[in-house]
Amino acid sequence: MSKPVCAICGKPIQPEYRPFCSQRCANVDLQRWLTGGYVVKASEDDEPLPDNEDEN
Ligand SMILES: [Zn+2]
Repeated sequence: MSKPVCAICGKPIQPEYRPFCSQRCANVDLQRWLTGGYVVKASEDDEPLPDNEDEN
């Protein structure tokens, strides 16, 4: 059983800032999400749709 802790700094989560311990850590996570960790598919816009037109 592990208590829920802030994923950013590991401190106990504050209910008003769930799932973080503070607004600051929430911002850190947001920035990380926007800038680094997550791959935003912006340049991969030419992904062809599956051609399932076999309506026989
Ligand atoms: Zn934190």
